[in-house]
Amino acid sequence: MGLSDESFVLGVDLDGVCADYTLGFRDFCAERLGRDPESFPLDRSWDFREWGFDDAMFEEMHHAAIVEGRLLADLPVIEGAADALWRLSDAGVWIRIVTHRLYVNWSHHAAASDTVAWLDRARIPYRDLCFVGAKADVGADAYIDDAPHNVAALRRSGRHAICFTQPYNTQVTGLRADNWAEVEEIVYDLMVAKGTPTAPQLPGFDSGADRLERRATGESTGTDGPGTMSDASGSQPGE
Ligand SMILES: [Mg+2]
Repeated sequence: MGLSDESFVLGVDLDGVCADYTLGFRDFCAERLGRDPESFPLDRSWDFREWGFDDAMFEEMHHAAIVEGRLLADLPVIEGAADALWRLSDAGVWIRIVTHRLYVNWSHHAAASDTVAWLDRARIPYRDLCFVGAKADVGADAYIDDAPHNVAALRRSGRHAICFTQPYNTQVTGLRADNWAEVEEIVYDLMVAKGTPTAPQLPGFDSGADRLERRATGESTGTDGPGTMSDASGSQPGE
């Protein structure tokens, strides 16, 4: 099944939602600057002021992390993201990755290629991959994002935007999820509100994100034998 008016499209941000940018960036900065990682608090503001960074310092370190450290290929996966996205995908949600990772000049090759490699490694299912700053323009039914300015802009455009809790966005009001289980619940509610037909997973069926790896190794998933479409990367169930 392709994209139709009945589809429910979920716009999914990466950094701070699926990928733990703060943790990965902290390790890079600690090594690069020869400082104790503990001197970079994970409980930080959006502008990293607790790390002693001004805008120029952040830009310099971020660029080095992307291009030299290949940070985006190696970020920790935020707990529950892959499993929740597989279950949502199985329920008929169209997963559209929407990230602004190309905002730094002269690092697009590393940013784009490392993003694709990371998505495979993280076992995150998706049908579209959008590198865009104006996130409302890609027209998803709902978005999950951690950046206060993105959540605000999406809501101004009349979109449902779920704020994924991080230390720098606790002031944001409205729809919020503290973890991926809560994202899932909110998305199901929004699908029902839209009237989207859902295909919820039956109890006992395989919803594990490691199905891709099992398929690659030829091991049975227990519900679908290897060779069915439902396990193929980039070709999601129902397609
Ligand atoms: Mg983000």
